[in-house]
Amino acid sequence: MRTVRTVAALRKAVTAWKADGAAIGVVPTMGALHAGHLGLAAAARRDCDRVVATIFVNPAQFDNPEDLARYPRRERADAAMLRRAGVDLLFAPPPEEVYPAGFATTVRVGGPAARMEGAHRPGHFDGVATVVTKLLMMTMADRAYFGEKDWQQLQVVRRLVADLNLPVAVVGCPTLREADGLAMSSRNRRLAPAARAAAPALHAALCEAAAAIRSGADVGAALGAARAAILAAGFERIDYLDLCDGLSLEPVAAPGAAARLFAAAWLDGVRLIDNIAL
Ligand code: AMP
Repeated sequence: MRTVRTVAALRKAVTAWKADGAAIGVVPTMGALHAGHLGLAAAARRDCDRVVATIFVNPAQFDNPEDLARYPRRERADAAMLRRAGVDLLFAPPPEEVYPAGFATTVRVGGPAARMEGAHRPGHFDGVATVVTKLLMMTMADRAYFGEKDWQQLQVVRRLVADLNLPVAVVGCPTLREADGLAMSSRNRRLAPAARAAAPALHAALCEAAAAIRSGADVGAALGAARAAILAAGFERIDYLDLCDGLSLEPVAAPGAAARLFAAAWLDGVRLIDNIAL
């Protein structure tokens, strides 16, 4: 596995592969990799002839400068993991390669980006949409792999790719979890031991609410009980806990086939998100 840091070097490698007729897969990440990221790489490895992973902590998608500064960076360990996962090329550009002086374009998605993460993190999805568009154009990938852990982001990317006619297939991959149910996340490393022990309560509360709604409980009551359970477990604050349609991301009052439960909550100063199918 080679590491390249410029768009020119990336394009050179990918152009040569494409000339041989290779199908290219890309796995965009912000690094501090865990098994969830490697699941995306494994799916790309299965489907594609060549796999490019990207590591870029995208300043444009952080609404909170402290979160950006504290985001874990461990490129050497990440590269070893990607190599073992069979990734062919790592693109790890410095910020000025992605956002050179004079950069003045933003991709803004409406629709599925409006609520939840979009409402609580101003500018977040503009930053995501802009960098994903750039990474797709830079890598010229045929297939791009995103995790269902960030379900809303996956729908935003699908919308963006459809609306801009980007020539890439978006592939969603299931959420990988720790044995206790906590969704794997680079941010989990920031939890102190007591908070780490409390963290699975978020997923547990979603599962309980989903089971209650499936068996006919009132949606408002089930969401209320889930909120209470999350706060009782020690979470400081809940940004949202909603039942939404899985495609439009609009809230729904009654469970339908595509409905999902979504939550974002703060524990030990760390913001955790999760979602499950109903
Ligand atoms: P990140 O590095 O957090 O930006 O995530 C990069 C990609 O990995 C995104 O498409 C995420 O949705 C995906 N991802 C992160 N955590 C998980 C997980 N626990 N299971 C599956 N995919 C994940």
